[in-house]
Amino acid sequence: MSIQKLSPVLATTYENFPKGRFITLIVIRTTQSETIFRTEGSGESMCNEFVQAGVTNDNIIQRLVMTKRKQVAPERRYGREHLRAHDLLFTNIKDNSICSLNTNAPCEMCVDCFLYGFAAGGGGAQKSRIWTEDAFSILPATDVVGDRTINAIYENGTMRDEKGNASTALNTSEYIKPGVHFLDVVTLKDVTTDELRYIIGNILFTSRYGAVSSRVGRMENQILGIFGSITELPSSLELVQATYDALGEPLEHPLNINRVITATKQVITNWQNRRGVSVQLSDEELTNLISDVETHWSEAERDTFLKRLSQSYEPFRQVAPDKNKGKGKGKNKNTPVEVEN
Ligand SMILES: [Zn+2]
Repeated sequence: MSIQKLSPVLATTYENFPKGRFITLIVIRTTQSETIFRTEGSGESMCNEFVQAGVTNDNIIQRLVMTKRKQVAPERRYGREHLRAHDLLFTNIKDNSICSLNTNAPCEMCVDCFLYGFAAGGGGAQKSRIWTEDAFSILPATDVVGDRTINAIYENGTMRDEKGNASTALNTSEYIKPGVHFLDVVTLKDVTTDELRYIIGNILFTSRYGAVSSRVGRMENQILGIFGSITELPSSLELVQATYDALGEPLEHPLNINRVITATKQVITNWQNRRGVSVQLSDEELTNLISDVETHWSEAERDTFLKRLSQSYEPFRQVAPDKNKGKGKGKNKNTPVEVEN
């Protein structure tokens, strides 16, 4: 089984202390519908950055940015839906509420808390072992962003409601076009085999990102490569720049996905010579690993898989309540929490 090939860089069990084992996932994220990466109704514009177009091509272009939080939050929520469904979210001892994101009361015991980390107001903290970075669009923002005037009329067919109030929904809204590719490097630190399966499942099965996600924001994620190493590999920005160079002309939206995948794979093939890389999965091994993940997440095996993963933290749960009782005392309940959105 291909997941075994990664064993030199996988932890055999969860440990409190890091041991320098890195697994890098190369992810291509492609929008399948109009997508909006900003806080709904906030009026802020889409996030973009001026960067060099390629590694060798030194033109400066403005690229769209999919921030780390826009990636991780929906993926965490996906996993947590299943933890909830299989009764694997714990009750927080401080206020007896069930573990939830964006509150001062993470349970500090569930799979999500152990993997993605938490910073609780009550004194406990767990560093996330999933390191994400901003993902960049391959093409310039000007090519991949559209403007749409939202012309919302009321049911009476006019721009005014029964009380004569004008519709406030008339405005111009920026959106990311369908078929836009973001390249992304996700680094996993000291994870176990089952943790790896859980994280990859969250990435592959999450299909909605960004604001107003029930109506827009459909996105397809594919994993193009997996590396094991003793250090972090090149950044998402370096990957997107090298791929830009490798793509050749013409570079216009929409880019053919197979062309993008070929160029990206060509770039990451050279990474096996990078300092610190000990394992690179071949295409066939990658396919096997993905089907291994799909099997573990399948209807037939999901319950066993998630419960086994949850059980693996058991030895580390027992100390938590005592420790927090002491440390939590007198802490301000309004301590800021790290917010995922
Ligand atoms: Zn939790």
